[in-house]
Amino acid sequence: MLDKITINNKVICVGRNYAEHAVELRNSIPEKEPVLFMKPLCSLVNLEEKICFPDDLGEVHYETEIFLRLNKDIGYKHIIDRPLSFYISEIGIALDLTLRGIQKQLKSCGLPWEKSKSFDASCPISKPITADINKLDDVSFMLSIDGAIRQKGYIKEMIFPPKTLLQKISNHFSMKKDDIILTGTPAGTGVLEKNKSLNLRINMHEVTLLNINTNT
Ligand code: ZN
Repeated sequence: MLDKITINNKVICVGRNYAEHAVELRNSIPEKEPVLFMKPLCSLVNLEEKICFPDDLGEVHYETEIFLRLNKDIGYKHIIDRPLSFYISEIGIALDLTLRGIQKQLKSCGLPWEKSKSFDASCPISKPITADINKLDDVSFMLSIDGAIRQKGYIKEMIFPPKTLLQKISNHFSMKKDDIILTGTPAGTGVLEKNKSLNLRINMHEVTLLNINTNT
């Protein structure tokens, strides 16, 4: 499955891109600039395989996120003046696994988050699917655990929508074809436990574009 991912490129993550989730973690809502961080290549694993995470470093939380995959290079300070479909033709779904206790500790000391976000296998991702990029506002996504819906989000609810994200990221660093952008998580994040079955979906109105069952 991951053969479609070119593993030479980077994973850019957006934090606090849904207002309700920022509030649930008692974070301020970003107004002018998105919160950005990266995950290393050792974090990428196939979402359809069993999800593994450390069991000796405190609670691991799930964050369900839509990812965008670039179809071309975007240079530093490039002006994003074409339709989004010029830059992106594929999307997918991912989990941004987070060691929440460690993250809280690092945040309280004003330190970077990598220890909580970048551990091996902390980014299970689906295969990328081709979607109608001009209709991303119609896309919703959800996570169910053992049959109960835990997270549901709509791309149109992002504080910084995909095209704005590309411009904001490009203002700071260049991007490469096949780079992946995790676009932030909606409200409802929580503890991921062992021996659970997860269902992750991307829908466009009533049509399911992607439906993945996996387990921990
Ligand atoms: Zn996240």
